[in-house]
Amino acid sequence: MLEGAARRIEAALQLERREARLEARVLAARALEVAPAWLLGHDRDELRPAQAAALETLVARREAGEPVAYILEEREFHGHLFRVTRDVLIPRPDTERLVEAALERGPTQGPTRALDLGTGSGCIAISLALARPDWDVWAVERSPAALVVARDNARRLGARVRFQEGDWFAGLEGQAFDLIVSNPPYVAAADSHLLQGDLRHEPRSALASGPEGLDDLSRLIEGAADHLTEEGWLMLEHGCHQGDACRVLLNQQNFRKVSTLADLAGLPRVSLGCRPFKGCRESLQHTRIHT
Ligand code: GLN
Repeated sequence: MLEGAARRIEAALQLERREARLEARVLAARALEVAPAWLLGHDRDELRPAQAAALETLVARREAGEPVAYILEEREFHGHLFRVTRDVLIPRPDTERLVEAALERGPTQGPTRALDLGTGSGCIAISLALARPDWDVWAVERSPAALVVARDNARRLGARVRFQEGDWFAGLEGQAFDLIVSNPPYVAAADSHLLQGDLRHEPRSALASGPEGLDDLSRLIEGAADHLTEEGWLMLEHGCHQGDACRVLLNQQNFRKVSTLADLAGLPRVSLGCRPFKGCRESLQHTRIHT
């Protein structure tokens, strides 16, 4: 039964055989209500009609292109199982690099305030809150439907996160954080990837950001200094070709210790910088007025 399902998925989505097999196994596990590992020894078992029908429904949805995470309504991220719906971006392993960077550089003691902008499923904020229960973690999201999912994830996983509806920094006047992290939309609006694979099914507002994909990254870099504490860090996920552009933007805003970190595949994925010195910011505002 698994081999047939894997072949159909492989043919419909042009996946590699290994990946199609893996997908067939997790879909079958859901249909049969067993653990995927159980299927390793039972992949040739005869199915009861109800089981066969349940598997058929899931395989047909996948054949039609629906992402596995939306079919199962869950995805693992940073060791936790998150509920995902079509209202949120599917958590990616690449984004774990951002969580790690925040945990590595965040203050090791004292009261720490962390902010996740555009939290989506809540996977970044919740992973931080679970790893550092002593941190005061805030999460902002513009989409009310996504916020429902994020709040639900925090409740299920027992994470203490302050969620707030809002558009990036709007609504955060007067608030300063030791860490600001974000996985904003960063795909170029005309990028053909938006029309392929899982991306076709994900919220466009969580993916696309202007002609070069840099609109929201620029807004975040321009707005962050006003919301960072003295030694506060801004850390942003971006596309693998956007590292140079992000460092230029961070340097233009006088961020210090600017650098880019690679993801699991060795590609530039997270750029970061420390809050500009106060004097620098004043001179920057001065320059802005005259240019
Ligand atoms: N990394 C995602 C992709 O290209 C994009 C996520 C995002 O725009 N934040 O599949």
